[in-house]
Amino acid sequence: MEIKFCTTCGSPTLLKIPPEDDHVRSVCSVCGLVHYNNPKMVVGCIPQWQGKILLCKRNIEPRSGKWTLPAGYLENGESVQAGAVRETREEALADVRIINPYRLFNILFVDQIYFMFRAAMTSDQFGPTTESSEVRLFDEKDIPWDKIAFEVIRQTLEHYFSDRKKGRYPFRIFDLA
Ligand SMILES: [Zn+2]
Repeated sequence: MEIKFCTTCGSPTLLKIPPEDDHVRSVCSVCGLVHYNNPKMVVGCIPQWQGKILLCKRNIEPRSGKWTLPAGYLENGESVQAGAVRETREEALADVRIINPYRLFNILFVDQIYFMFRAAMTSDQFGPTTESSEVRLFDEKDIPWDKIAFEVIRQTLEHYFSDRKKGRYPFRIFDLA
């Protein structure tokens, strides 16, 4: 996304490649400040409880009404693990303990990185929130595969159930393009 106005002096920016750089940047036409626009990281988890996993029905666009895993943007000053725990509390009112890093997806066409953990719920408490109209534990056979909100979440779930059959959950990196 282009940054149209300087974040320091408010003047219009120009798109150009600064000296000794190799990417086009938004450069302030007055003070010369170079604005770097880098990918955003989304962190989340697969919360498990007694063989079931917790999904959230989205109450917000995009994909309102579809099911997803708790995940959201990492905040400044926050570790990826803490971000995944926080998002799970915010979206599902569930407390989790991180088990291991599980999947990293480079989603190049939207400049996002999804970092998904496996996590254990520390109790059977969960519930709806402003972001999730419904929160439910699912057995594998009941997963609403035709109503999953995002391809990255579908792949995370498919990998998880495939790995579960093998009893091993290696960390792996994929590109979505
Ligand atoms: Zn400026």
